[in-house]
Amino acid sequence: MNLSEEETQVLEVIRKFAESEVRPFAMEIDKKKQVPEKLINRMRELGLFASYIPQEYGGAGLSFAFLVKAIELLSWACASTALVLDGAETLFAEPVIMFGSESLKKKYLPQVAEGAVGGLAITEPGAGSDAASIKTRATRKGNSYVINGSKTFITNGRISKFFVFDAVTDPSKKHRGITTFVIDAGTEGFKISRDIEKMGIRGSSTVELVFEDAVVPAENVIGKENDGFRVIMETLDAGRVGIAAQAIGIAQSALDDAIAYAKERKQFDTRITDFQGIQFMIADMATQIQAARELTYAAADAWENRRDSVRLSSMAKLFASDVAMKVTVDALQLFGGYGYTTDFDAERHVRDAKITQIYEGTNQIQRVIIAKEVLKNL
Ligand SMILES: Cc1cc2nc3c(=O)[nH]c(=O)nc-3n(C[C@H](O)[C@H](O)[C@H](O)COP(=O)(O)OP(=O)(O)OC[C@H]3O[C@@H](n4cnc5c(N)ncnc54)[C@H](O)[C@@H]3O)c2cc1C
Repeated sequence: MNLSEEETQVLEVIRKFAESEVRPFAMEIDKKKQVPEKLINRMRELGLFASYIPQEYGGAGLSFAFLVKAIELLSWACASTALVLDGAETLFAEPVIMFGSESLKKKYLPQVAEGAVGGLAITEPGAGSDAASIKTRATRKGNSYVINGSKTFITNGRISKFFVFDAVTDPSKKHRGITTFVIDAGTEGFKISRDIEKMGIRGSSTVELVFEDAVVPAENVIGKENDGFRVIMETLDAGRVGIAAQAIGIAQSALDDAIAYAKERKQFDTRITDFQGIQFMIADMATQIQAARELTYAAADAWENRRDSVRLSSMAKLFASDVAMKVTVDALQLFGGYGYTTDFDAERHVRDAKITQIYEGTNQIQRVIIAKEVLKNL
């Protein structure tokens, strides 16, 4: 991964912040089901939200590789906290940066740089993996669109100031009749209908959204009318690298905890790390994480250079999330019965890891994408 000297220095600051100000509170964040505003404010103060936003829109213009590494470090400390930043940058800001008009960029990106959180609303109750089958409707009326429908499982729902979302503008054209928009939270007719309780990433807000005759100005279209499916798919190419980074952070955290515990724990009058059975598990976990990390960094480079990024971002997301699931389960095993209790973080790591196999396209869908990419080159 190519990082500038400045980026390496900033990452060192983030590492220290993650270690001393985030990780000690991860269990509490999970229990209270909320990332404290105080912590989000510290992320703002440290310039984390500004880091990836281009300089001409008030940001620091750091690289995608930097962002991926920052997400990994924060996820190591607390996956829910990392998602606040990940959602704002890869899910909200990225489509605006890539496809937004100059006026949309000028309106929204400086706000993200200052720390406003955003989200991306694609999934609907009847349309998950089949993202082209959405039913939310956008009907043109003069210089505006009237939106009706609903979205579900939306990350950062309660804390977002605005959302990128997609809706059907021409039902006769399937995925070629979808348009992507930005909408401000608080727009009349647009509201949160439900908070969704979850197994893991419990500090992250996940909501259902409803549009009832919500009016969005035509200038809020991201890209072109009826070209929104492409906007969403390209956004997810970046997003999936972010999820891979999240998975690596969670896996590394689980392994670090397990090693610290195993070095202290004695059975049969010897440290359990003296047993070859335990050593082999640690060797496998460390190897899997390293492989996932290399693939994720390769995907980050590919995305930055717009080279073969569809294949690599799906591979990284698939591989890193499967590694996270396996490593967190094995790390819990090293704690014996204690791993199964809520006194330790091991069980939370398993719960947090599971989502990485599901969102931004399930791992079955990643395999569909990878197979298509591989076969088209034959
Ligand atoms: C905590 C959380 C946060 C989320 N955040 C967001 C967000 O911020 N924004 C957003 O838009 N969405 C978000 N999602 C939604 C997430 O992306 C979807 O849940 C996911 O894409 C799967 O869709 P689904 O749940 O409808 O499952 P379905 O699509 O109904 O899938 C059910 C099962 O069928 C399998 N399947 C489906 N199609 C195929 C196929 N072609 N081949 C093989 N198997 C298949 C799936 O892999 C899965 O195992 C979030 C979800 C969760 C749980």
